[in-house]
Amino acid sequence: MRNFAPDFIPMTTFKDFNLSKPLWNALDDLQLIHPTVIQEKSFSPILSGKDVIGIAQTGTGKTLAYLLPSLKQWNFSKKATPQIAILVPTRELVAQIVEEIEKLTPYMNLVVVGTYGGANIRTQAETISQGIDVIVSTPGRFLDLALNGDLVLRDIKKLVLDEVDEMLDLGFRTQITQILEILPPRRQNLMFSATLSEEIEALLHEYFVDPVKVEAAPAGTPLEQITQEAISVPNFNTKINLLKHLIHENHELYTKVLIFVDSRKKADLLHETLEETGIPGLGVMHSNKSQNLRFNTVNEFKEGTIRYLIATDLISRGLDISEVSHVINFDVPEEAENYIHRIGRTGRADAKGHAVTFVSPFETKQWETILEFIKQQVTVDGLPENIAVSDVLIPEEMPRVEHKIIQLKLPKRENVGAAFHEKKDKNKKVNVRKDWKKAKMDKYGKPKTRGQKKK
Ligand code: AMP
Repeated sequence: MRNFAPDFIPMTTFKDFNLSKPLWNALDDLQLIHPTVIQEKSFSPILSGKDVIGIAQTGTGKTLAYLLPSLKQWNFSKKATPQIAILVPTRELVAQIVEEIEKLTPYMNLVVVGTYGGANIRTQAETISQGIDVIVSTPGRFLDLALNGDLVLRDIKKLVLDEVDEMLDLGFRTQITQILEILPPRRQNLMFSATLSEEIEALLHEYFVDPVKVEAAPAGTPLEQITQEAISVPNFNTKINLLKHLIHENHELYTKVLIFVDSRKKADLLHETLEETGIPGLGVMHSNKSQNLRFNTVNEFKEGTIRYLIATDLISRGLDISEVSHVINFDVPEEAENYIHRIGRTGRADAKGHAVTFVSPFETKQWETILEFIKQQVTVDGLPENIAVSDVLIPEEMPRVEHKIIQLKLPKRENVGAAFHEKKDKNKKVNVRKDWKKAKMDKYGKPKTRGQKKK
C-alpha cells in the first residue's frame, strides 16, 4: 500500500466514495486505499454536476481527484464522439494523464486518446475517427482538430482544464477562451491550478457558473516533508565545482536527482561540462529537444538509467516522476511559484525529499522574494571550504556596461527666424537622370535595324 503522506486522510477509504465496481477493482489493483484531501474534497461537488475550481499542486493527487468522479459518471455510448475533454499544458502531461486513465479503466470499455502539437495531425485525426470517449490534449492541437472538423465537440459533457496557471503562462489564453466558446454550453467545467491569479479569476467569472472552490493546501506552502537547504555560491563556474563535489560526496544518497537551471543554453552548457568530467547517468531536457527525445529522457529518468537530469522549468510542473531523491536548484528560479513546483518534484507520495538551492549574489533578491512567498526561513549556508572558487564569469554574469547619456549643452538660440532660407545658387541644381537613349538618337540618328540589307 502507498501511504500518501502530504494530504492523506487516514479515516476515509475509497470504499466511502461508492465507486462503480470496475473503478473500485482498478483502485484495488493499484493498491490505492485512502483518498487525499483534494480527492476527498472534490468528489461530491464534481458528482453534483457543479463547476469546480480546485487549488492543488502536483503531488496532491489532483489528477485522480477529477478522474474518479468523472469516470464514475461516464456512461458507455455507442456514439464515436468524446464525452470528456481534458486540456493540459504539455505533451508529457498528455501522455501521463492518458496513462493514469488507462490504469483506472482496465475493466471499462473506454477509449482514451492523447493529442498534442508537434506530432502528425492526420494520424491523430485518424485515431479519433475510429471512435473515442475521452480526449486529453494540449489546447492548440485540440482547437486545430475541432476547427478542422476531425474532433466533434457535440457530446462533450465535461471539460477539465488541468494546470491552467501553466497553460496561461505558456500563452494558451486565446486557444482556451476559443475552446470555451465553441464547446456545447450545457457542460460541466472543472479547473485545477496551483495558484489563483487574476487572469484565472477572470476566466472563472466569464465561463464558470457559480463554481465550488476546493483547496488541497494553501497555495505557496511547500510540502512539509521536504527539507530545504541553500548555499551561497559566487558564480556559475563555482556552482559547477560545488555540484561536482555534492555528486561525488553523496553518490549513494543521490539516487534520482533533478537539477534545475534557468535557461536552455545553461542546461546544455552544464550538461557538456559535467559530461566531460565523466559523471555517469547524465541527461538533459528542455523545450528545444525533439518530442521523441523528451519522452525517452523522461522514461530513462523514471527507470533510473538517467540518474542526474538537468532540466529547465519545462518539467518542473505537472510531471509525475516518482521517487526523485533530490532537487538541486542550480539557479534560483525567477518566479517564486516555480520554486514550489520545482521542489515539489521530490518528496512525492510516501518518500522524503530534499531540495538544495545555489544562491549567487546576482540572485539574492530573487531568493528573498521566494522566502517571502513560501513564508519560511531557509538560511543560506556558506560555501564548503574545499570548493575551488572560480573567478571566470560566463557572459550572463559579466557586469553590464552602462552607457552614460550625456546631455549636450547647446547655446540658447534667441531671436532666430523661420527655419526656411533661400538656397545658395550652387545648391539650386536639380539632379536629372540622363536619358542615354535619347542622347544617342540626337547624336547618331535612328539606328539601322539588324536585318536591313545594304543596297
Ligand atoms: P498527482 O498530484 O495527481 O500528480 O498525483 C501524484 C501521485 O500520487 C501519483 O503518482 C498518483 O498515482 C499518486 N496518488 C494519487 N492519489 C493517491 C492516493 N489516494 N493514495 C496514494 N497515492 C496516490
